[in-house]
Amino acid sequence: MDTRGRIILISGPSGVGKGTIIKELLKNDNLNLIYSISTTTRKPRKNEINGKDYYFINEKEFEKRIKREKFLEWARFTTNYYGTEKKYVEENLIKGKNVILEIETIGALIIMKKFPPKDVVSIFIKPPNLRELRIRLEKRKTEEEELIDRRIKRAKEEIEMAYEYKYKVINGNLENTIKKIEKIISKEINKKNNK
Ligand code: 5GP
Repeated sequence: MDTRGRIILISGPSGVGKGTIIKELLKNDNLNLIYSISTTTRKPRKNEINGKDYYFINEKEFEKRIKREKFLEWARFTTNYYGTEKKYVEENLIKGKNVILEIETIGALIIMKKFPPKDVVSIFIKPPNLRELRIRLEKRKTEEEELIDRRIKRAKEEIEMAYEYKYKVINGNLENTIKKIEKIISKEINKKNNK
């Protein structure tokens, strides 16, 4: 039996509700999940904690880590770098944990190429529509108007990449979305355990 964990790849535009969904998924012990905390050069938002939400570092340090091949994948998103630490993911996969990566589409495609398809469960979360997304971003009040525009522009590009993902889920009703994703992960994990 293959005891390695799987990568649960979750993408979707900014404001679609990924953070809330993942928080709920992590409460479900049956899924045996662990969250990969990313590293970024973005400034922390109010309420964000270093080492919990992200590892916040400066550009120079990020570029040093790229050169030293510390990242499994990395990408620029609007004006900042974001990356997944290689060591943490590998260690947990070996332990049999299913590792959640909440990353944008460029990094996600790198992961899909690096790992065999059976080791990756890729899920793209879509908003009901772009107007809804802007409302959610404005309500969140974490970004300036100009940054919201950039994130909406990027959201359109990201949604065009959704076809690359095995599963696409529209987040209309949060509770239903969580249930759907739990079902997907559960099905995929059991498939693997029976091999
Ligand atoms: P935010 O600034 O809203 O926290 O994140 C912006 C975007 O960066 C989101 O789409 C998020 O999924 C993505 N992101 C977060 N961490 C990583 C990472 O480690 N790698 C990549 N490629 N994208 C990431």
